[in-house]
Amino acid sequence: MDYPGNLIVVAAPSGAGKSSLVKALLELDSHVQPSISHTTRAPRGQERHGREYFFVSESEFDAMVRGNAFVEWAHVHGKRYGTSRKAIEERIAQGSDVILEIDFQGALQIRQAFANAVLVFILPPSREELRARLERRGEDASEVIEMRLRNAAVEMAQVSQFDFVIINELFERALFDLKAVVHAQRLKYTAQRRARANTFESLNIP
Ligand code: 5GP
Repeated sequence: MDYPGNLIVVAAPSGAGKSSLVKALLELDSHVQPSISHTTRAPRGQERHGREYFFVSESEFDAMVRGNAFVEWAHVHGKRYGTSRKAIEERIAQGSDVILEIDFQGALQIRQAFANAVLVFILPPSREELRARLERRGEDASEVIEMRLRNAAVEMAQVSQFDFVIINELFERALFDLKAVVHAQRLKYTAQRRARANTFESLNIP
């Protein structure tokens, strides 16, 4: 499928700092829009329907799966999460870049559907630091932290299937790296050909 916007998919184990990086990128770059996923999990804290997620029931999610409304969906931590076609197709067709913050299973499904999607994996700088970050959050019991560390190992084993790897040791450095990936997409031949059609024309480039 040919479309003017870029799809940027970001995956990471929990504790790698993915959400903060994506949030910072969205604040800095108004040409990037978030894809809002659907989930069967309950809202947490200040989360609002339609902002962080569309919170739906199991049966609503089933109906969307049956109706082929999702480009990808997966089970994550016992709940279901999915990216609707609506969340991305219209926007990339209009030329916006869309960023998806999803798990690795979803990322690989997106690649099947959109060959041009760029897959970015965020890694923590070490296992010790990942553990320290999970503990520092203070949200989880030690069994939950152990489970998250085991899950992280499974997720990180998929990193070779991604295009780019960002190691989130220093936040500002990792944000710079993420911006660089987004910027590089905009410099690709097909993107430049579209965005700077006049330049190509004036240079008589066929
Ligand atoms: P949380 O419940 O903490 O917001 O997210 C749990 C995990 O689900 C995170 O790894 C998040 O990236 C992933 N996730 C969120 N939305 C989607 C989605 O639409 N599809 C998939 N496959 N994973 C998602």
